[in-house]
Amino acid sequence: MARVLREAILPSKCIVCGSFFQPVMYKNCDLSFKIFNDESTLAYNKKSIFNKLMLPVLCSACSSDFVPVESPVCPICGIMFKSRIGDDHICGECIKSPKKFRMARAVGIYEGTFMKTIQRLKYKGKIQLTRPLGMLLFFVFIKYWNNKKIDIIVPVPLHIKRFRKRGFNQAYLLIRDWFSYADAFNVKLHSKIERDALVKNKQTEPQTGLDRKQRLANVKNAFSIGSSSKIAGKSILLIDDVYTTGATADECTKVLLNEGAKAVDVLTLARGM
Ligand SMILES: [Zn+2]
Ligand SMILES: [Zn+2]
Repeated sequence: MARVLREAILPSKCIVCGSFFQPVMYKNCDLSFKIFNDESTLAYNKKSIFNKLMLPVLCSACSSDFVPVESPVCPICGIMFKSRIGDDHICGECIKSPKKFRMARAVGIYEGTFMKTIQRLKYKGKIQLTRPLGMLLFFVFIKYWNNKKIDIIVPVPLHIKRFRKRGFNQAYLLIRDWFSYADAFNVKLHSKIERDALVKNKQTEPQTGLDRKQRLANVKNAFSIGSSSKIAGKSILLIDDVYTTGATADECTKVLLNEGAKAVDVLTLARGM
């Protein structure tokens, strides 16, 4: 009754196309039950997890065009190969210019609905997207990593001027509530979240529209270690919203390794192709 009333007064509006739709509500515990107990179906299917988590914010038409990153991928940079058959293998780019990080993984391809959803969060301040997108990232972390082996989770920082203008760092918002998700889904999270492990001390141009070489030059020496961090000997997971050429991830990795980090892995929501 309350739901019917609520929907009559405040119908759900799709965050991407703006159309009104009938949302299907779910409870955390239902979702966790399906994801963690029914391994054959939902457990490791990114698309169904995406659709489920996005139910309150996306209409079904928009939700259906999400493309997950799936094997075969490059085991280092995580790029998804166009051919959908064959095994994972190291890509030409990683052979030509080896990456400093150990491995990078992403949830989905940066296009269509997924791209627009991330842009709504970043540029339109739709921070209600923090929860479904953060949970999605959390599930992929639990899937790809043994979280006992990650000591610290570090968001890619924004320059202070960009941070003040935007009001939030989307990379941090995505991981901020991971401990409460872990509790809700009965998973033990062993890693520590260090929001200020890195700082960005150079205001860089937006990476959009720059080629690979320009991107590398743009982020060169843009990051340094934050004051309170204990990095030496630690295995680190770096978090960002989008991975495009890997220039930002590699530059952050360089700084962390120089500080004595044992290894750096990268997890992003989306992967540019
Ligand atoms: Zn829609
Ligand atoms: Zn690669």
